[in-house]
Amino acid sequence: MFDLASVRADTPGAARVFLDSAGSSLPPSSVLDEVIGHLRREAEVGGYVAAQERAADLDAGYEVFARLLGAERDEIAFTDSATRSWLSVFDAVPLAVGDRVLVTEAEYAGNAVPILARAAETGAVVDVIPSDVHGQVDVDAVRALLDERVKLVSLVHVPTNGGLVNPVRPVADAAHEVGALVLLDACQSVGQLPVHVGELGVDLLTGTGRKWLRGPRGTGFLVVRRDARERLRPRLVDLHGGEWTGEREFRFRDDARVLELWECSVADRLGLITAARYALDLGLDTITAEVADRADRLRAGLREVPGVEVHDLGARHAGLVTFTKQGTDPGEVREHLAAHGVTVTTSGLSSTRLDMTRRGLTTVVRASPHYFVDPAQLDEAVAAVGTA
Ligand SMILES: *Cc1c(COP(=O)(O)O)cnc(C)c1O
Repeated sequence: MFDLASVRADTPGAARVFLDSAGSSLPPSSVLDEVIGHLRREAEVGGYVAAQERAADLDAGYEVFARLLGAERDEIAFTDSATRSWLSVFDAVPLAVGDRVLVTEAEYAGNAVPILARAAETGAVVDVIPSDVHGQVDVDAVRALLDERVKLVSLVHVPTNGGLVNPVRPVADAAHEVGALVLLDACQSVGQLPVHVGELGVDLLTGTGRKWLRGPRGTGFLVVRRDARERLRPRLVDLHGGEWTGEREFRFRDDARVLELWECSVADRLGLITAARYALDLGLDTITAEVADRADRLRAGLREVPGVEVHDLGARHAGLVTFTKQGTDPGEVREHLAAHGVTVTTSGLSSTRLDMTRRGLTTVVRASPHYFVDPAQLDEAVAAVGTA
């Protein structure tokens, strides 16, 4: 049973009308205590001893994320951001002249820039999969675009600029028929939706701690499925992912941690693991239902406000609510809401250029309520949009 009072009591920032869990969410007290407690311990005994004391908990983190993501523990790696996860795994996908990379209209700028840079360097070609009538990736169009030159299909589960949930499984199955790897950016889905790599059928998955998982900033994670590991050509490997075995010899690890770096913020890693445990304890199905309830209520309220247009695409909606208000700049809406104690953000053209350009949008206001938001706070937010 979901207990709103108890999750709110666990959330030091809950009194604010906080609608930016797609940006950087509010951590529960247990995460905060874990991070601060470890920093204090490091100050007492030094970082090495403090980490050694928590070795079992750090190791258990692989099990926790394997459970969260439906993976095996040797398929999990930790990094310092979703972007770091994405960059290191993308860099390890072999690409040569004439190879093709498919992206969707939901592609995120942080992925698009390295894809375009590598295409320019290698002579690989980037093609965009069009969207269907719902605005999500068109499964039939993918089939038509696929051939054996496609080496990678880059998918975004939930885009940064709206509430749609892209279909993944049928795209992954079609991609596998031509031998392509499938890389899923699950930054906006992990922590708000059940995400199971086996069911989604993806080879590689990346995510962040700071958004729907309510973990610390500067944390990320990565899934490399066992079958995909052999097909990667890791390059950005340190003394943790590889071993210097002879004067001119080295050996890579043979699991996902080949892409992990030795140095990390141990406090943040512990906080991330605590955040994942917290989500698992609440239950992802419960979280999904509570987030959907908040987002639906917010969309319904916003649609009643004169001049407001809600922009979320997709046959199925996640917890990101995007809108504009006629005659008021999205940045002004954000500032007006901030002055009324409501935290939202804006999402601009350059973050999701393909989708925004196709829809003729330059900036939208993005409100992303998590389960710890009291429904009455959403009504306050809607009222504040009304006076913006
Ligand atoms: C936020 C976001 C990222 C990047 O996450 P970081 O934590 O900044 O690395 C990647 N993809 C999508 C879709 C995002 O919304």
